[in-house]
Amino acid sequence: MLTLPRLGFGCSPLGGVFGPVDEAESIRAVHRALELGITYFDTAPFYGLGRSETVLGQALAGVPRERYLVGSKVGRWGEAAFDFAAPRVVAGLEASLERLGLDRLDLVVVHDVEFGDLDRIARETLPALAKARDAGLVRWIGASGLPLVALRKLADHAPLDFVLSYAHYTLADTTLLADLPSYAARAIQVINASPLGMGLLTPEGPPGWHPAPAGLVQACGRAVAVAKKRGADPAEVALGFALAAPGVASTLVGMHTVAQVERNVAMLRKPRDLATEAAMRQAIGKWQGKSWPSGTWL
Ligand code: NAD
Repeated sequence: MLTLPRLGFGCSPLGGVFGPVDEAESIRAVHRALELGITYFDTAPFYGLGRSETVLGQALAGVPRERYLVGSKVGRWGEAAFDFAAPRVVAGLEASLERLGLDRLDLVVVHDVEFGDLDRIARETLPALAKARDAGLVRWIGASGLPLVALRKLADHAPLDFVLSYAHYTLADTTLLADLPSYAARAIQVINASPLGMGLLTPEGPPGWHPAPAGLVQACGRAVAVAKKRGADPAEVALGFALAAPGVASTLVGMHTVAQVERNVAMLRKPRDLATEAAMRQAIGKWQGKSWPSGTWL
């Protein structure tokens, strides 16, 4: 059975997704994470177009293989470049292994399924990955996406070991909760990514490309200000909240510095700041549970 740690290292920042990054510091961050007991790293060919995988591979070189789990993705090859066809997926998987310097992925994720035809993903992409699993190239097969309905529909007619949902269990959005019982009933593990709403709930705020509507960005900005006024670190409060999600196998937070790793790992032991959580949620107000469009068929 797939067993994930409570906190996982999201590697999209290693690809420069949230802004410029120092590769040597990224590598130190991965090493510090391993020292502090983080054993799960999530990357993708899309993150910096191979850079995240390459840097993660450099960091993991020489680390005993049994000390960590690596997940990477297939199907999304660029900002608007999706191809879930079996030959492309198999070639992409091999290229990921090459960049990572590994001969096996622990988790393989069909990346952002709302941009594909779910029937085709069920009939073609997932069987190709099952063959790759039989050949020893991957261990666990799952899917990611923003709209919860896309993950639900795929899980309804295809076998999945896990789903990777993002930005749906945060201080600003807990809509993932409603789907957890049906995944639990089928032993499909749920990974909750982007507990900081891809930067919405951090002191630095979201990157310029963030797809949230302006009202949600502003509401989260107010929540961040409320936390600061109370003397709290908004990112810590937001992560503390997400780590307490009931029925979630792992929470994936994006990081690229040693300081972030140390702060975020410390949250595994710190008590939640319930009063600041409540104040931040109140500041988000009517924007609570609001998301943004993603996909070609929704
Ligand atoms: P996130 O909510 O984890 O936020 C990441 C941002 O917060 C980065 O800018 C990071 O530098 C910053 N940050 C992290 N810790 C901080 C701290 N203690 N204080 C202040 N700022 C802090 O968003 P994310 O990175 O998008 O999500 C986590 C990971 O989940 C990704 O890296 C990726 O691996 C995965 N993910 C997958 C999908 C998908 O499959 N479609 C989508 C989103 C995320």
